[in-house]
Amino acid sequence: MILIDDSKIDWELLRKQKYALVKLIDNNVKSESLTSILNLIDNVQDNAVESGIYSKEEIFGNNCLYCGLPLEVAMVPDETGKGLHEETKCVNPDCPDNQ
Ligand SMILES: [Zn+2]
Repeated sequence: MILIDDSKIDWELLRKQKYALVKLIDNNVKSESLTSILNLIDNVQDNAVESGIYSKEEIFGNNCLYCGLPLEVAMVPDETGKGLHEETKCVNPDCPDNQ
C-alpha cells in the first residue's frame, strides 16, 4: 500500500479532468488505458471520501459540470456487472451528461 499526499490534489480540477476523460471514452475512443486511468481516479475519489477526511461534496462536487444542476447519488452496476457501486449523477434527465 502506498500513500498519496492528498494535500497536493486539486479535487475540483481532478473532477474536471475525470469529466474530460469520461467524455473522451463516451465519444467512442475505446481505450483500455483511458478506462484504467478513469478507474484509478474513481478509486482515489472513493478512498478520499471513505477516509472521512473529505466530504462527498468536496470530492465529487455539488453540481453537474455540464449543466450546473445538482448531482444525486445513484447505485449503478460496476464493471463486472455483478455488483453495484455509488455514483453521482446529474438530476437533469436532459443533461448531455446523461445521454
Ligand atoms: Zn447535468
